Amino acid sequence: MTQDTGGSFHQMWRELLPLGRHPDSGGYRRFAWSGVDGDCRAWFEDQATARGLRFEVDRNGNQWAWLGDPAEGDAVVTGSHLDSVPDGGAFDGPLGVVSAFAALDELRGRNARFDRPLAIVNFGDEEGARFGLACVGSRLTAGRLTREQAHRLTDGDGVTLPRAMEAAGYDPDAIGPDPERLARIGAFVELHVEQGRALDLSGDRVGIASAIWPHGRWRFDFRGEANHAGTTRLADRRDPMLSYAETVLAARREAELAGAVATFGKIAVEPNGVNAIPSLVRGWLDSRAEDQTSLDTVVGGIEKAARSYADAHGVDLDIVRESFTPVVEFDHALRDELARILGTDAGLTVPVLGTGAGHDAGILSGSIPTAMLFVRNPTGVSHSPAESASEDDCVAGVLALADVLEGLACR
Ligand SMILES: [Zn+2]
Repeated sequence: MTQDTGGSFHQMWRELLPLGRHPDSGGYRRFAWSGVDGDCRAWFEDQATARGLRFEVDRNGNQWAWLGDPAEGDAVVTGSHLDSVPDGGAFDGPLGVVSAFAALDELRGRNARFDRPLAIVNFGDEEGARFGLACVGSRLTAGRLTREQAHRLTDGDGVTLPRAMEAAGYDPDAIGPDPERLARIGAFVELHVEQGRALDLSGDRVGIASAIWPHGRWRFDFRGEANHAGTTRLADRRDPMLSYAETVLAARREAELAGAVATFGKIAVEPNGVNAIPSLVRGWLDSRAEDQTSLDTVVGGIEKAARSYADAHGVDLDIVRESFTPVVEFDHALRDELARILGTDAGLTVPVLGTGAGHDAGILSGSIPTAMLFVRNPTGVSHSPAESASEDDCVAGVLALADVLEGLACR
């Protein structure tokens, strides 16, 4: 490590830390195209210009800081996002951006000579906290979200995405696919805090991503009969809450059997009265598994159980799949290259692990070779103020990223 790498990381981290932090919860509220998002973006631009990098914003509002001439092609790109979920943690996103600048500082300290262009990127609206769709910046760029679809996105206050972009000083009519930009990129490496405890359990500071698990959302509508909670005999009830509750337990069982995850995290009840048997319980299932077969097994098992519980209680059941994302396998050659670089240059045995969370790197993997590095998160908690990573692990992540960038861009 060159002398200042830890210092450069911590100085940037300290500057970014107060932006958008809520005084009561301690969590971050950095929503796309808000004033706080603008502060984070100004910080990014400052970092780029302070290092003499060429700063630009693409047609979709993603920010880029270039070392070398992008027109040469085969660029190595690293970075992540600066926005957050409501009351998110400090690390999800910013760790990848700050580590990218710190890794560049480290490489300059090593007098590294780049023979490929290098860029640091901040993708806009990764979390989808405001408009309900994740990875809008990278989806638009990759042509996986059309301008028309994006223009229909609306936040909870009724503000549309185009109006929000306009208010932040960007041109919403310019958004759309950016194949020329992607064609210039030879590799994208996103460093991210781990959103689980695999590294904590294995005792490693840094890991390499293998794949993003297939995942989806299913809506379960259990319909029974509303009635008086005091006067209706138990035997006479058609109570959808009972079949819903049994289904939640079945989801846990099926997920455990398959080594997957399944969560009912959102529920709507009608009429939603303390003294009324519900007429409708609507629950949303989020399930993710290592591979498609396991996911099919889990969700199939939950559906079968839900139907039998509904039958037993005289309740009608409709199940609708609301969204689905198939497995994303990261580029095997790039992944193996990362493992080789970290194995030989840094002398690390770096575990390769799957993840249940979506990322810009996953969106872009359909267009360009992408890879991810994970940094240990001892709590395993993410999307919460309890998300964490130790200072030593953050610096280990910076050094691993620097090794990777050097191995890829400085031959
Ligand atoms: Zn993230």
